[in-house]
Amino acid sequence: MPTFRTTALEDVFHRKPLEVKAPSGKVSDYYGQNVFNQSTMREYLTDEAYDSVMDSMINGSRIDRGIADQVGSSMKDWAMSRGATHYTHWFQPLTGSTAEKHDSFFTPSSEGRAIEKFDGSMLVQQEPDASSFPNGGIRNTFEARGYTLWDPTSPAFVIGTTLCIPTIFISYTGFALDYKMPLLKALKAVDDASVKVCQYFDKNVSKVNATLGWEQEYFLIDKALYNARPDIALTGRALFGYASAKGQQLDDHYFGSIPDRVMAFMQEYEIECHKLGIPVTTRHNEVAPNQFELAPMFEEANLANDHNLLLMDIMEKVAKKHDFRILFHEKPFAGLNGSGKHNNWALSTNTGVNLLRPGKNPKSNLQFLTFLVNTIKAIYDNADVLRASIAGAGNDHRLGGHEAPPAIVSVFIGSQLSKLLDDLEKNIKVGKMTPEDKTELKLEIGKIPQILLDNTDRNRTSPFAFTGNKFEFRAVGSTANCANAMIVVNTIVANQLNKFKVEVDKRISNGVKKDEAILKEIQKLIKESKTIRFEGNGYGEEWVKEAKKRGLSNLKDTPSALKVWKNKKVQEMFAALNVLSNEEVDARYEVQLENYVMKLQIEARICGDMAQNHIIPAAINYQNKLLENVTGLKAVLGASYKKSATTQIKLIEDISTHLTGIKVAIDELKAVRKKVEGMNDLEKQAAEFSEKVKPLMDVVREHADRLEMLVDDEIWPLPKLREILFTR
Ligand code: ADP
Ligand code: MG
Repeated sequence: MPTFRTTALEDVFHRKPLEVKAPSGKVSDYYGQNVFNQSTMREYLTDEAYDSVMDSMINGSRIDRGIADQVGSSMKDWAMSRGATHYTHWFQPLTGSTAEKHDSFFTPSSEGRAIEKFDGSMLVQQEPDASSFPNGGIRNTFEARGYTLWDPTSPAFVIGTTLCIPTIFISYTGFALDYKMPLLKALKAVDDASVKVCQYFDKNVSKVNATLGWEQEYFLIDKALYNARPDIALTGRALFGYASAKGQQLDDHYFGSIPDRVMAFMQEYEIECHKLGIPVTTRHNEVAPNQFELAPMFEEANLANDHNLLLMDIMEKVAKKHDFRILFHEKPFAGLNGSGKHNNWALSTNTGVNLLRPGKNPKSNLQFLTFLVNTIKAIYDNADVLRASIAGAGNDHRLGGHEAPPAIVSVFIGSQLSKLLDDLEKNIKVGKMTPEDKTELKLEIGKIPQILLDNTDRNRTSPFAFTGNKFEFRAVGSTANCANAMIVVNTIVANQLNKFKVEVDKRISNGVKKDEAILKEIQKLIKESKTIRFEGNGYGEEWVKEAKKRGLSNLKDTPSALKVWKNKKVQEMFAALNVLSNEEVDARYEVQLENYVMKLQIEARICGDMAQNHIIPAAINYQNKLLENVTGLKAVLGASYKKSATTQIKLIEDISTHLTGIKVAIDELKAVRKKVEGMNDLEKQAAEFSEKVKPLMDVVREHADRLEMLVDDEIWPLPKLREILFTR
C-alpha cells in the first residue's frame, strides 16, 4: 500500500523546473517600476508636494493635510496606472510577519455611479481592528482601536492589484504595537547622537543614517514532502528524523551549482524584487543541503528592513508557485547548519562618509576610532540587551550550535585593530601630553587604512564582528524582523555616543585640547570594554570557560535572555532616548514570552500526536509482520525454529523496547505540558517549557528515530531527512 511518503516522493520525481519569463529589456528598465519612488514622485507630484515629502524623508518634518491630499491623489493615479484597484496600509505587528487590510479605491457616488478616490486622510491614517494583534496588555479589550499612520520615509509600492503604504501601528493611546515605530525612534536617536559627535570633526554633518545590509538564509523543500511532514508544515522544523547518512560533511553544497528548479525560483523572486526596487544582488547555496542565501545591497536601515519583510513575503509566494515550501526557521534540521540573518550595520553621514570606514588622514581616522570604540563600549555595557534582541524559540536551537555564533555576546575586530587598540591603551599618556606624544599618536592612527588593507581576518564564529567598514551582527535569527536587533544596536550606540559627548566636553571645559580630550576618552573606553573583545574561536568549549572567567553572560534560552527587559536601567535608557516607554518595554517582554510559550506548546502537541499516530502504528505494523514470520517458522520448523529466527526475534524485542520508551515519554510529555499550560505566571511558564517540556520532546525523538532505523523502509510513513534534503 502506498504511504503518504511514497506518493510524495513519486510527485517530486516528476517535477520540472518552471519556465520564468523576465520582463523585456534590461533589469535597469524595470527596476523599481512598482515603487512610488523619488523619480516617480517628481513626475506625479507638484513641486510643493514633492519638496514637502522630500523634507519629511530627510528631516522628518510633518506633511500638512492639504499636501497629503495632493500626494494621496497622485499616488492613486500612479498606482492605478500600474493596475492597482485597492490600497492597504502595510504594517509590522508584533506577530513577526506583516499585516494588511485591503480597501477599494472606488467609492459609490450619489448618482448610482462610482468614482475612484484616495485622499490625504486615507493615506495618512487607517483604523484596523487591533484586537487580533498581540499587544502585551497595553490596550484594554474595550479599546480595541489601533491606528496605522503613514511612514513617508519608506516609499509606497504596488503588489498585484494593491497599493501598499508602509505605516506604523499604534494603539488608541499612542503606544507602539509594532516594530517600525520604535525602529524609527531608535534611528532618530542614533542620528542625533552621531551628528553631535561628528561636530568635533566636521561641522557640515547634519544627518547620520544607520545603514543595514541583511543576508537572508533559508531552506527550500518540495511541497509534497513538506505536506507529508506535519511537524515541518506546522512548526517549520523537523521534530523527528534519523540524521541522513550524508549531511554536509563533504561540504559539496556550498557555492555548488544551483539545481534547475531552485534556479527558476531564484530568477523569479529576483525579478519580483527588482520591480519593487529591492536591490538583491547575490545568491548562492549555503553549507547545508537545500540551504541557500541571498543578500541585497545595503540601504538606509528602515527601508532595508521593510525590504527584508517584503522579500520574505515574496519568497514564500514564489516558492509556492514552484512547488517548493520555504523554511525560514533558524534550525529546521538538527545536526545540520541553521539559518541566520546577518545584519551588517554601519553609520553614514549626509556628507557621504561611512563613519565605520577608516579615512584618509589622521583626523578622519580619529573619527573612525571614535565610532568604533564607542560601538564596542555600547556592546560591552549592553551585551545582555543585544542577546535579548535575537532571542526566540527557533534561535535557541541555533545559537551555540557548532556552526552558529554562541549565545555569549562578544566583539571581534581582527588582530591588527586589536593590536592598535592595545597600543592606544598603553601609549596615550595619562598625564598631560607633549606635542611629540601627539605627533607620534597621530602617526599611529594615520596608519589604520594600511593596516586594514592587509587585514584579511574574517571570524565567522563571532556574533558581532567588525568586517573592515561595518559591523556584522551574525547572531540574528533567519525568521526575525531585523528591527528587533536594529532597535537595540542603534539605541545602545546612541546612548553611548551621548555619554561620550558629555565626557569629552567635560575634559575640554577643563582646558584639555579637543583631540587630546577625545583620545583620552577613547583610551578610557578601550580599557573599560576590553573583556568583550574576543578574537578566538567562538564555537569552542574553551571560549565558554574563558567567557565565564571574564564575567560575560551565557544566556542559553529565550526565557533567561528576555529577563533583561525588566532591568530598571535598561528601561530607563530606552525611555530617556524616547525609543520605548517603560510600558512598551513591559508589553514587548510579555508578547515575546507569550510567543515563546505558544511555539513550544504547538511543538509539544505535534510531537506527541505524531509519535502516537504515525510512529507507534508503523512500528507495531512491522512488528506484526515479524511475529507472523516467526509463527510461520515455528509451524514449519517445529522446536528448532529459534535458530532461524534470531534476527526477527531480536528486532521484535528492540521494537518493543522503544515502543515502551516512546509511550512512556509521550505520556509524560503530555502530563507535564498540561501542568505547565495551567500555570498563571507567564515567566515561570516559559521557563518550564524550556527546562521541562523541551527535554521530554528530545526523549520522544530519540525513541522515534531508533524506530525509524528498525522499521522496514517500505512502510515508514514519514519522508526521511535524506529524502527531504536530497530529493529534487
Ligand atoms: P560577505 O560578508 O559575504 O563577505 P561583504 O562584506 O561584501 O560580503 O558584504 C556583506 C553584506 O554587507 C552585504 O549584504 C552588504 O550589503 C553589506 N554592507 C556592505 N557595506 C555596508 C554598510 N556600509 N552598511 C551596511 N551594510 C553594508
Ligand atoms: Mg556575512
